[in-house]
Amino acid sequence: MLIETITVGAFETNCYIVSGSNSGRAVVIDPGAEGRRIAGRLKQLNIKLETIVLTHGHPDHIMGVKELKEGTGAKVLMHEDDLDLVKDKRLAFMLGMEQAGFEPDEFLKDGQDMDLAGLTLKVMHTPGHSKGSICIQCQDALFSGDLLFCQGIGRIDLPGGSEAQIMQSLRQVIKLPLETKVYPGHGPETTIEAERQGNLYIADLLREFR
Ligand SMILES: [Zn+2]
Ligand SMILES: [Zn+2]
Repeated sequence: MLIETITVGAFETNCYIVSGSNSGRAVVIDPGAEGRRIAGRLKQLNIKLETIVLTHGHPDHIMGVKELKEGTGAKVLMHEDDLDLVKDKRLAFMLGMEQAGFEPDEFLKDGQDMDLAGLTLKVMHTPGHSKGSICIQCQDALFSGDLLFCQGIGRIDLPGGSEAQIMQSLRQVIKLPLETKVYPGHGPETTIEAERQGNLYIADLLREFR
């Protein structure tokens, strides 16, 4: 499996190109900006974009979708509960961005398996940072969006945020195998083991397990 990170836009969002070995096809997770640059990299790698998957609907994760979709005809998949964020002109404007300008093609459900680019990607609905936030699990990798970061967790003060929900979602995610590699929406990669040891927000949750 190939996982390549491209950090895009003013919010330094991690966009991931994910491709099954020798499949010649790719999934792009969170093209937050710079759609043309992402398309250019896919071309360099000689892999065809099959699908765009969004971990959630905040502008810093979706502003590259329109360009990338127009250039490739890729389908856009996301959780339905974040559709209002994608359509929210005010939120985009607040962040100095334009409206996203695309329609999702399909909505994802908790527990769903997606067979894409020679891989099986599993959807975990993990609300809290936003109502429709998802994590995507693939082999030993977890794309955690803005739920879990290296030494941090997502904000809950944006529209759709909920502290109770983010804690419940984190409880699910930290039960994954310790060796799971975590690819967050911003900042460096980490592992479930490292976060269980060093992430203060998670330390509180682990205390509940005792
Ligand atoms: Zn976000
Ligand atoms: Zn973000």
